[in-house]
Amino acid sequence: MHVEMQEGEVDMEKNTMMGAVLPGNSTVELREYPIPTPGYGQVLLRMKCCTICGSDIRCIYHEHLGVGPEGYQGVIAGHEPCGQIIQEGPGLKRFKNGDRVIVYHISGCGVCHECRTGYMISCTSPKRAAYGWQRDGGMAEYLLADEKDLVALPDSLSYADGAQVACGFGTVYEGIEKVGVSGDDAVLVVGLGPVGLACLMLCKAMGANKLIGVDMNQERLDIAKKLGLADEVFIPSDHVVEDIKAVTADEGVERAFDCSASDSGRATAIRATRRWGKICMIGEGGTIHFNPSPDMLHLQKTLYGSWVTSIWRMEDLVEHLVRWGIHPADLVTNRFPLEKAGEAYALMSSGNCGKVAVCFDEELKK
Ligand SMILES: [Zn+2]
Ligand SMILES: [Zn+2]
Repeated sequence: MHVEMQEGEVDMEKNTMMGAVLPGNSTVELREYPIPTPGYGQVLLRMKCCTICGSDIRCIYHEHLGVGPEGYQGVIAGHEPCGQIIQEGPGLKRFKNGDRVIVYHISGCGVCHECRTGYMISCTSPKRAAYGWQRDGGMAEYLLADEKDLVALPDSLSYADGAQVACGFGTVYEGIEKVGVSGDDAVLVVGLGPVGLACLMLCKAMGANKLIGVDMNQERLDIAKKLGLADEVFIPSDHVVEDIKAVTADEGVERAFDCSASDSGRATAIRATRRWGKICMIGEGGTIHFNPSPDMLHLQKTLYGSWVTSIWRMEDLVEHLVRWGIHPADLVTNRFPLEKAGEAYALMSSGNCGKVAVCFDEELKK
């Protein structure tokens, strides 16, 4: 194949590439694939950064648990891709060679009602395919993507910033927009994995004046403190709700986010929220136990659920990141080359880290 060389691009004389698949026994397998050729409305990306998501670990890496939209089909992994267009297919309408782009990680049918609202995550067509789940994802040297799934990456954001937006930051922003966060609010985030840390970072940028984090892993609490993302942090205990109330005038927070997916973590988010407050559940899986009347109804609280985001809101987020001057890549604690993808997934599954990224070219040197 012939590809026009961009400055700093690797030589593509070879026509195969390496890609990582997840067999489901907590290992990563590198395989050789032909470099794909973009068809109508498609582009070929040189991958620059692909971050690892909690759902990759939960549903694919250890064992293949997912069904439906989370059903892994043995494709190249990685649903948080960011890269540069190096080859155009015919029929493109907006993007072109050299453009830096984020890939919204679900390729929807484009014509069902959910797709028409921009929420391809909820596409109802059997043709729905998520990158890294049902079609090849970003853990490879190159990625074939549909133009309609691309979000432009502004010059002031790095590819690692963009990879973070592709899933985690987009998901968090959606939840925050649903409940609304401003300088009026004290915010509690339960679960300080990469999604919880992203939640703190965005709430801070949106003006929340008191940021409280809860996690059972001291290392994660330390990361939140070190990055200046939390004013108060607590390890879960039987008095954690009282601890939170003690730093919020004995009332609790106006807004709470559960990013822990734990039963008790979710109950903490609800109980530490004050009268008329709003709670948003973002963490996936598990269950919850609480007492509706004393914990919610009699205190006029509202509980929201949120799943990923729309592509238009992802574009809004990217614009706001530039305006706020914040960088999601600050949460990336470890970068690996593709050849060491096995180490990258193992570290992410250990939880003793912030965000873990597989990087290429200039992003690997950072
Ligand atoms: Zn994800
Ligand atoms: Zn659809």
